[in-house]
Amino acid sequence: MPLVYGLVGMLVLILALTWGALQLQVALAGFLNGESIWSKAQKQSVIALESYAISGDPADLANYRENYAVLMADRSARDQILSGSYDYEEVAGALRRSNTVTIAIPGVVFMLHHFSGAPYMRDALDAWRSTDTSIQDLNTIADALAAGYANGVPGQAEITRQRARIHAINSYIEPRSTLFSRKIADGAVWMGQVLFWGVFGAGLIAALLWLDMARRILASVRGSEERYRLLFDSAADAIVMIDESSGRILDVNRTTSSWTGRSAGELVGDRFVHLFVQSMAGQQAGRAASNLLLGEQGSTRPVELQTSLANWGSQPVRQAIIRDISERLKMEQERRIAAEALAGIAEGVIIADAERRVLSTNEAHVGLTGFSSQALISHHLDEHRRLPDGKPLPQSIWDSVAAGRNWSGEVLSTRNDGSSYPEHLSISAIRDGEGQPQYYVAVCTDIHEAKASQQRLEHMARHDPLTGLVNRAEFERHCSEAIAVAERERLAVVVLFIDLDAFKIVNDSYSHAIGDRLLVKVAERIRRQLSDGDVAGRIGGDEFTVLIPRLILREDARAIVNRLLVSLSEPLLIDDYEIVLSASIGVAGYPLDGANAAALITNADAAMYAAKAEERNACRFYTPMMHADTRRRLQLATELRQALARNEFHLVFQPSVELRSGRIVAVEALLRWQHPERGEILPGEFIPVAEGLGLIRRIDEWVMQTTCAQIQAWDLAGVPPIRVAVNISARWFGHPAFVDGVSRALQSRQLSASRLLLEITESAMLRLGDDIERTMQTLHALGIEVAIDDFGTGYSSMAYLKLPAVAYLKIDRSFVTGLPGDANDAAITEAMLVMSKSLGLVTIAEGIETEAQHDFLLRSGCVEGQGYLYSRPLQPDEVRYLLCPNQPPVPARLKLVPPKRS
Ligand code: C2E
Ligand code: MG
Ligand code: MG
Repeated sequence: MPLVYGLVGMLVLILALTWGALQLQVALAGFLNGESIWSKAQKQSVIALESYAISGDPADLANYRENYAVLMADRSARDQILSGSYDYEEVAGALRRSNTVTIAIPGVVFMLHHFSGAPYMRDALDAWRSTDTSIQDLNTIADALAAGYANGVPGQAEITRQRARIHAINSYIEPRSTLFSRKIADGAVWMGQVLFWGVFGAGLIAALLWLDMARRILASVRGSEERYRLLFDSAADAIVMIDESSGRILDVNRTTSSWTGRSAGELVGDRFVHLFVQSMAGQQAGRAASNLLLGEQGSTRPVELQTSLANWGSQPVRQAIIRDISERLKMEQERRIAAEALAGIAEGVIIADAERRVLSTNEAHVGLTGFSSQALISHHLDEHRRLPDGKPLPQSIWDSVAAGRNWSGEVLSTRNDGSSYPEHLSISAIRDGEGQPQYYVAVCTDIHEAKASQQRLEHMARHDPLTGLVNRAEFERHCSEAIAVAERERLAVVVLFIDLDAFKIVNDSYSHAIGDRLLVKVAERIRRQLSDGDVAGRIGGDEFTVLIPRLILREDARAIVNRLLVSLSEPLLIDDYEIVLSASIGVAGYPLDGANAAALITNADAAMYAAKAEERNACRFYTPMMHADTRRRLQLATELRQALARNEFHLVFQPSVELRSGRIVAVEALLRWQHPERGEILPGEFIPVAEGLGLIRRIDEWVMQTTCAQIQAWDLAGVPPIRVAVNISARWFGHPAFVDGVSRALQSRQLSASRLLLEITESAMLRLGDDIERTMQTLHALGIEVAIDDFGTGYSSMAYLKLPAVAYLKIDRSFVTGLPGDANDAAITEAMLVMSKSLGLVTIAEGIETEAQHDFLLRSGCVEGQGYLYSRPLQPDEVRYLLCPNQPPVPARLKLVPPKRS
């Protein structure tokens, strides 16, 4: 606005001055209006001529002539200029002669030349031109007068006539001369007005243009100011302007207000340092510095602060840009965690760019491959990796990763030292905004160990760990394959089932370790007899199988069977022991004896049983008859499993008598199975089966509990307390929970340990190995006594007799049977009796059936005896009646042998 006012004022002033100048000119024109040079000269020439006419004075004539010359000069200048072609100098000279002001000459020439047709001008010139003839007439009069005066004084009449002519001419010229002057003045006034309005119009247009321009400039200035403000306010960073000298805030943008929770009004004027938690001392100018920006309610925001100095006019101003770095700090932390996780991860990790060039690897990868991270940078990720078959990694892997699927699989990775190892490689991609892979991440795990153990596991799953022969499942698989081939090629396949005769005795008598080594040797011998393509397997404790594929006839296997029998019957040397074994072999062949692997093995097994039943070290080819036996055995096994649950077991008790007095001093619990169809089955038939099925421990426990319950029942019935012997199988005796089980059974019936005698065979003791000592100590500590059952049939080690808890020795029936006639038996029996006596053991002879046996044993110092001579095993009630003479007798099968009279 001030500019507009100034401009208008200036314009008004110019116009006023112009107006003044014009008024001056008009006034001047007013004054000059009566007397132009020309009209003055015309008037002067008339006056001078009249004076001359009257006086005849030559001075008047000269005066006339002078004025007439002015008129002529003006006229000639006028006519020359109006003719259009004139010499300026000549014209100017003429005008000078007519006393025109020198400075005005160019203007006069210009006007006449260019504006002769302009209004007023044309009228003025017409008036001027109309006087030309009259003025010439004046000169004619002057000449006539001069001629008159030259000849003396002319007559008065002449003078009067000439004066009248002069007057007439003057009357004609004067109004025209006045008109001329007037028109010139009017023209000047008109011209002045035209010029004024022209100046006024131009000034007005200039002012309007200027105003428009000013408006535009102001608008653009305001626009850029708004843009700047917008930019300032919409900046993502907080921007603060600070007065450098006072440190106070001059301006803030909107972000600053929102971060600090204070309006711009509150912030302006406050000290800049008050915005932060940490002092800003020591901060270097121009350097970014971290700080904490105070927010609403004491909250803080991590920021980075950068300042620069500028001048607002002469005022030094510091501009601070405050950047929120919370996100960056968070990302840095996340990156640090990720980096640490990556470094600490057990798997090797490779990060590669979109071109699959390695950017970095972690420590685990260095350890895995031996390549330092630096050495791999810019190399291709898959440069040291191949597929397990040696081919390079196919493009399809990268295609599938690019398509968004992770790829994982096994590859062969080469280490820095050139060696290679199997690796599980898993590749995934990190994508950019458009979904294109930006980085590849590969995780690699050395699966060498895992593969090896997998192979080991696979081998273990298919092989017998002891002998290295294939196991049952694998043997069946081989069998099935061979049958398939045989079916196609019309051949025969033979399966041999080999069972070692009396291996159980060896195993029980020596030790498991020896038994194991024996099996290994047997396996070696079997293998040695086989040809390529034959398969040997071990499918049970001492049960081996052999597959002979691609035979023409089943009988073609006979040669190899014979070789096997010979080879297996040769003595085996294990440590210092020489062990002689024999084997029974059953043979079954495809297609005659079975259409599948399972049938062939079952039937070969049946054939083996038949071989074993008939004679040792024999071979039998399968016949359908054999199947019935096998079925019966299998049937028994199935039924045995259910016997416990169905409560089909019961105990009988065989008395043990003091040989000297015939008094019953003990009973031995003997197990019976009351089969629903087959009636009573003796332990000899089902116990080995129960052992094979792993049922024996549960059966033993049942016997123990039932025996304890029976003792308690007898006690309650008032039966005098006697020792009760229980047979313990090797399997249970060797079990860690054995002693616990026994004492729990006693406790549950509140029985003292002395009521029980545990019968353990030598072989069971052998099985326990080094633990035997400890177990016996524990039993001894508990007060439980042990009898060694079936002594003499096994290893017959003296060491066992000296073990704590061992208090009884039972001489096996096989020695008693031959007494007294068999000298060997007699000698052995006597030796055993002497030996046990010296060790302080009580001897019990088993299976005494005759008086002679009784006599011999009594004589030889045997203390107790057991046998049909005295009593068969009895039902519990029978035992009760036998021991309680007061109670009504039962029809006893007991035959008491009276003490021998000495
Ligand atoms: P063992 O412990 O030596 O038992 C003696 C066996 O000889 C019994 O056969 C008994 O009936 C039989 N016997 C007794 N006196 C004579 C006789 O004068 N002549 C003949 N020929 N035999 C006689 P049993 O009951 O058939 O038992 C056989 C074997 O079964 C037992 O031999 C024992 O080792 C085992 N046994 C029996 N009951 C159990 C049991 O509850 N648990 C365990 N683990 N084994 C048992
Ligand atoms: Mg016994
Ligand atoms: Mg016995």
